[in-house]
Amino acid sequence: MLMNQGESDYTGKLERAAQLLQDHTGPVVLVTHIDPDGDAIGSCLGLQRTLRFLGKNAQTYASVPRYLNFLLENEDEILPPGVVLTPETLLVVLDVDSHDSKRVEGVTLEGTFPNFILNIDHHGTNVRKAQLSIVEPAKAACALMVAELVALLGVAFTRSIATPLFTGISTDTGSFRFTNTNSEVLEMASHLLSGGADLGFINESLSQTPHHMYRLQAQVLGTVEFLHGGLTITAQVNTAMLETVGASWEDVESLVGVIRSAEGTELAVLFKVYSEDSVKLSLRSRGRVSAQNIAIALGGGGHMAAAGVTVNASYAETRARFELEAVKEFSRVGMGSGL
Ligand code: 5GP
Ligand code: MN
Repeated sequence: MLMNQGESDYTGKLERAAQLLQDHTGPVVLVTHIDPDGDAIGSCLGLQRTLRFLGKNAQTYASVPRYLNFLLENEDEILPPGVVLTPETLLVVLDVDSHDSKRVEGVTLEGTFPNFILNIDHHGTNVRKAQLSIVEPAKAACALMVAELVALLGVAFTRSIATPLFTGISTDTGSFRFTNTNSEVLEMASHLLSGGADLGFINESLSQTPHHMYRLQAQVLGTVEFLHGGLTITAQVNTAMLETVGASWEDVESLVGVIRSAEGTELAVLFKVYSEDSVKLSLRSRGRVSAQNIAIALGGGGHMAAAGVTVNASYAETRARFELEAVKEFSRVGMGSGL
């Protein structure tokens, strides 16, 4: 069995992953995180199409959000979560820690770990317990890592393979605007475009906002508050609001992006009030404070600029806990005076 190695040997590990996939003759199952985003679905589709091109039996299990359906070439290209693994299965877990059973979707891992897990992820909080864990927080998107793997597999970027991978990179870099947009990102985007990634189709498809989203935004923007002397913007969304406008939780994913550009703020938080005792926080930072530190303190994780956590408490208690941790984080970076 392959053993974990130090994080430094990124290319070596990616080469091992390529070899592993080349040599594997059984089924390959691909899964990702709950509430999958463009990076999650783009990474799965890019790798699945590559593996199928190589003649492999590869299948993704995920719940594709409606706004990403345009990436699918046919209805059953991605199957709903709930796969039963056989011992011959190679499980590939993308854009999430394979051992975070609350976050992995598609397969129930508790007690039924397959013989081999290949985990490709860019979250620093990953516990790196897969047989082959390739975790690189410096990578802007999991799809960027998958694109590098596809290149190592010797498969050319075609429109079909490059379009989902480009979508993943574009999504996780805020359409090439966030500070994780480095030269490596732009170089890979360029390679993917050369291979046929359809930028016009991607952006046109992503900018088809359903009408009820405007009514939902109006509700959510009505809850906006500024805290910490204007350094933090918060908003909340609950089930009643969704029902009023005919929206679903899937529609909520993009809303934190609407509040994060408030002038003078360093931190944006959307409270998703699932129920009386379950609240999800989506945290976004402009880079001076760590959204990740706040999420970790509350039991979640993510990246410095974008992180999340689900707290099993009321909205009022969750908010109080958040405010405490946010003040600590502002203080840590020397922005705490007067808060
Ligand atoms: P979002 O706010 O869009 O759900 O998530 C932002 C980032 O934080 C993503 O990279 C996501 O993977 C991560 N994240 C969100 N919720 C959780 C959570 O409950 N636990 C962990 N470990 N990461 C999370
Ligand atoms: Mn990602």
